Amino acid sequence: MIINCRWFAIINGKNKKLLILFAAACIILSAFCVCAGEDVRVVVNDNALVFDQQPVIENNRTLVPLRAIFEALGAEVNWDENTKTITVHKENTNIVLTVDECRAFADGREVELDVAPKIINDRTLVPVRFVAESMDCFVGWQEDTKTVFIADGDNKPERNLSVHYIDVGQADSILIMLPNGQNMLIDAGNNADGDLVINYLEEQGIAFLDYVIGTHPHEDHIGGLDMVIDYFDAGYIYMPEIQHSTKTFEDVLIAVQKKNLQIRSAKAGINIISSNGLCVDIIAPAGDFYKDLNDYSAVIKITYLNNTFLFMADAGKLSENQITADVKADVLKVGHHGSDTSTSITFLGRVSPDYAVISVGKGNPYGHPSQSVLDLLNSHGVCIYRTDEDGTIIAASDGYNIIIDSNKGAKPICGPLSLNLRPSGLPVMKGVKLAA
Ligand SMILES: [Zn+2]
Repeated sequence: MIINCRWFAIINGKNKKLLILFAAACIILSAFCVCAGEDVRVVVNDNALVFDQQPVIENNRTLVPLRAIFEALGAEVNWDENTKTITVHKENTNIVLTVDECRAFADGREVELDVAPKIINDRTLVPVRFVAESMDCFVGWQEDTKTVFIADGDNKPERNLSVHYIDVGQADSILIMLPNGQNMLIDAGNNADGDLVINYLEEQGIAFLDYVIGTHPHEDHIGGLDMVIDYFDAGYIYMPEIQHSTKTFEDVLIAVQKKNLQIRSAKAGINIISSNGLCVDIIAPAGDFYKDLNDYSAVIKITYLNNTFLFMADAGKLSENQITADVKADVLKVGHHGSDTSTSITFLGRVSPDYAVISVGKGNPYGHPSQSVLDLLNSHGVCIYRTDEDGTIIAASDGYNIIIDSNKGAKPICGPLSLNLRPSGLPVMKGVKLAA
């Protein structure tokens, strides 16, 4: 039966009829909860736990079988049959929980739980967020996949995800500082932007680029890449499988060679990172041959718990159409500088973003961004940021909420934004129901 602690306290103070009604409601509801809980996954340091009794969600908290979770976290558990008390010990941490009781203790400190430990099918289940956080673990909840991510020690995320859409005029360059401490650079602007990008990266304290992506061989994307590769040490370089007979392209190949790096193929289906609720995937190009060089663009999707960012580079409508991955995203880096050759109505419907970022130069000769794309985004209620008006745009996510800032300040139309993106505490903009 459900022991929802706040309600239990209220009901106790009323008459017994209410208590009987409450108990009846609990029996019906608890059957539902056990069913709903079958989908819940618990992943500890990237290992999915296997349970003999499925976790359940009650009162927006996930309860998991205690043996499995404490073994995964390397803690000792003692069970007192008489008092139904669970005592957990790991290094300097001691936790005491009692079945059907919302009062718990973490290192002697009394804690009021949202949901009490309970016995289902002879297995004792405990609230996973409380036990993991008491042991100084990171706990993340992903609503779509009904997954609890737990990490300890070096596996814990170091910071929020932050995405810097650098103002490089009529070009693209995006720095992504990942929660796991790694850094990724997507493109590096035109040939003349090399120093600008290097300086920006240095200002952010970047010393090493774990991933460098040259989305496609056009100068406005890989122009500054040779200088960046010369300057920073890098881990992996991804580019689509297409050559280009320009000096700009050759310069990148020479820079890669000089650093003794190898270019990895950027194409749909490649997973770059999948760890602790962070996923980085290449979802296009899906085809091998295109007439338009833009359609070879490497399209990157980054998901951190409940927030997703999509980076389209210059992929056109043909490539958009071929993407089979789920493209639902909170923030869309609009394809091809807002040109009407990208961002079809169908594709925008699939992405359904809250925010769009357009990387574009003031008074550029191409007429980017196209009025029709701006109208389309506006008609879908998408909040638009553009580098020609807003300068460098920074978006930060803690896995639940996104805040966006630019050199010219946040736009009031986009909600109650905080201008300070650096600290870990982010204000709530869009809520995710916490079930862990
Ligand atoms: Zn471009």
